[in-house]
Amino acid sequence: IERDAVFRKKHKIHVSGNDVASPLKNFAELSSRYGCESYLLQNIADLGFKEPTPIQRQAIPVLLSGQECFACAPTGSGKTLAFVCPMLMKLKHPSADGVRAVILCPTRELATQTTRECKRVAKGKKFRITLMTRELLRKADFSKLPCDIIISTPQRLRLAIRKKKIDLSRVEYLVLDESDKLFEIDMLKKIDSIVKACTNPSIVRSLFSATLPDFVEELARTIMHDAVRVIIGRKNA
Ligand code: ADP
Ligand code: MG
Repeated sequence: IERDAVFRKKHKIHVSGNDVASPLKNFAELSSRYGCESYLLQNIADLGFKEPTPIQRQAIPVLLSGQECFACAPTGSGKTLAFVCPMLMKLKHPSADGVRAVILCPTRELATQTTRECKRVAKGKKFRITLMTRELLRKADFSKLPCDIIISTPQRLRLAIRKKKIDLSRVEYLVLDESDKLFEIDMLKKIDSIVKACTNPSIVRSLFSATLPDFVEELARTIMHDAVRVIIGRKNA
């Protein structure tokens, strides 16, 4: 525990919460500590990632331990892998059971980028990773479409819910990315209805952001219970 504190300090990782998991020393610990499958380590290596970034070192073990998390780290610091990696490890295999993970992004551009990154990290494993597009929203009934992970803006996902095209009752994993932007006033209701549609009691929610203004943290506390807070550097740098 003392060693964890020294290590965190070195990487400017600040945590608060109970029994926060030890940070990762390297990517190899994903397999030695958590039995990570080799496809994932191979993809991380192929992407040219040698060392985990500070947010990855701490957020990945927290999420793998099943704790909810809100995480704040600067833009460009690797937050996508910090939530995609534990998500893929938890989902383990593709399944026909319906949507098991949802990633919400504030804009379509970010949703598109996140989908691309997610597919790269998942390469070689046949997860169905679906970007919610307008065409899909018009055509598809998601209750019939095999889909493990869905990536969407709140607007589109909320429409899909209202049109009863999607069942989120099996979602095990909900990520709110760029949550400072997601929590802008006009999106709040939509987020709220999505959070409510994810009725699985064992869901693990997490929130990732470049800044963590007090109002975001307060909102996050109303959604998540006993969440661990991980901040890299300073809170609103
Ligand atoms: P953020 O969401 O924090 O703004 P991203 O997840 O978009 O950051 O990552 C920024 C860039 O860093 C991307 O090009 C990504 O591929 C790269 N990256 C992510 N993790 C690592 C790593 N461990 N080592 C090197 N580059 C990384
Ligand atoms: Mg990002």
